[in-house]
Amino acid sequence: MRELTQWFDSVETDRPFEICKVCAQLLPLAADSWVVNKHYHRGECTLEYAVCEKCRDNVSSEFSDSSKATIRNFLENEIEWENRLLEWMALENSADRLSKCVACSCPRSSTQGFSISAQFRHDGSLIDGALPLMLCSDCIAEITKSLSPESRSVWQNFISQHFEGPDSEDIDMGIF
Ligand SMILES: [Zn+2]
Ligand SMILES: [Zn+2]
Repeated sequence: MRELTQWFDSVETDRPFEICKVCAQLLPLAADSWVVNKHYHRGECTLEYAVCEKCRDNVSSEFSDSSKATIRNFLENEIEWENRLLEWMALENSADRLSKCVACSCPRSSTQGFSISAQFRHDGSLIDGALPLMLCSDCIAEITKSLSPESRSVWQNFISQHFEGPDSEDIDMGIF
């Protein structure tokens, strides 16, 4: 069975991520912490990256205030954090916290797609808090839909600047 941290290894290299997708610096040097996001569709990883805290702050500072409020509201109101944290503490295998959507609780096995996010500190260890988490594609689509067109284009620019291949319109937002 896959351990929690293994979920956040790069599918491409089969190892933990080493560089920030945006500034291309080695992660421990780039910032004090970084986030790994991976998107899956029908069982395949379609997009994966690590982004350092500094670059993440830069990108999210381009989001409009209303979009930031939308995301904050979703995270605060659509997720029953107390219940989730209690469930996660009771798990025998910590990787099971990724087995259902943190917001709507649908099982991962019943989703078309999902994204997972985790935060790491500079020594490469996992920061255990609100992350790691899994969000199903329906919940991600709902967040994306409620963002302003300007903020959606910030995200699409991020994707098209840093990735080849996926049509940015088709990639819903990850946790930023
Ligand atoms: Zn960076
Ligand atoms: Zn969901």
